[in-house]
Amino acid sequence: MKMSAKLIKGTEIREVILEEITAEVARIKEKHGVVPGLVTILAGESPASVSYVTLKIKTAHRVGFHEIQDNQPDTISEEDLLGLIDKYNNDDSINGILVQLPLPKHIDAKKILNAIDPDKDVDGFHPVNVGRLMIGGSAIKFLPCTPAGIQEMIVRSGIETKGAEVVVVGRSNIVGKPIANMMLQKGEGANATVTIVHTSTKDLASHCKRADILIVAAGVPDLVKPEWIKPGACVIDVGVNRVAEKISEKTGKKIAILKGDVDFEAAKEIAGAITPVPGGVGPMTITMLMKNTLSSLKYKLGVE
Ligand code: NAP
Repeated sequence: MKMSAKLIKGTEIREVILEEITAEVARIKEKHGVVPGLVTILAGESPASVSYVTLKIKTAHRVGFHEIQDNQPDTISEEDLLGLIDKYNNDDSINGILVQLPLPKHIDAKKILNAIDPDKDVDGFHPVNVGRLMIGGSAIKFLPCTPAGIQEMIVRSGIETKGAEVVVVGRSNIVGKPIANMMLQKGEGANATVTIVHTSTKDLASHCKRADILIVAAGVPDLVKPEWIKPGACVIDVGVNRVAEKISEKTGKKIAILKGDVDFEAAKEIAGAITPVPGGVGPMTITMLMKNTLSSLKYKLGVE
């Protein structure tokens, strides 16, 4: 039987969440006289990194945060960068510190990221926050942004996770491992039976075919074939693969043609719900960064 899947659009869910955050920021400002503060630290002028931090800061501004875009030259020393982190760790007006990666080669990125106060680590990558996620429950403070966005999309689309078979393709520290860990927690939007598959998995197809919720974060265009999808399943395609370039009609500039890890056109005839690429998971990441920064202030104020 042919069916057409419900599209889970990150672009739409993002707008709803950003409106919720804006309203909450206004309420906190009225009651407590403070707003969340986010600083982005960038070393160098790589166009991609500049455009990422600019978008993060623009979004922070939109939801009413106090925002600082701290751009440094790529010659900044490791010591000076550590000094900056220390300054913001001790700045009461800052609730979230984001260091834009990649950092210049002469800087040990791990050392810099580990210097961030775990209670201001809104990216959720500090080993303390990774540990908190592993422990689960009330130990969790900040979920890494892309996996948090995936979970929000699933929950807000009314997909049942309790008891569901979740298969995660990919085991990276930024997507695969954390989303798998989140889905197996005992709690709302989780409580699933989780399988993680990777390049050494025997018979990838048979695992995918079992999935009620299939989350694919491999970085391989069209890796998941339509016949691997269980009819009616929810398919979350995290992959962003630049497969070609074209000239934008709007700007006349070269732009990338993006493809996900799932053969979307065929998969949407089998899945019950599916995320497109672009416009699916992508827009959720910055949205969840805003949510984490708001949560950071709420933890500090002791408000729910
Ligand atoms: P990554 O670090 O390269 O990890 C990819 C994972 O997929 C690895 O665990 C790898 O297995 C597994 N894998 C690769 N090819 C496979 C295959 N043929 N069969 C089974 N498993 C395979 O990638 P990542 O950082 O997690 O990102 C994954 C994708 O998501 C990329 O396209 C990236 O651009 C995208 N992404 C999007 C967002 C967003 O939209 N906001 C955020 C982050 C990432 P091994 O461990 O065995 O090598």
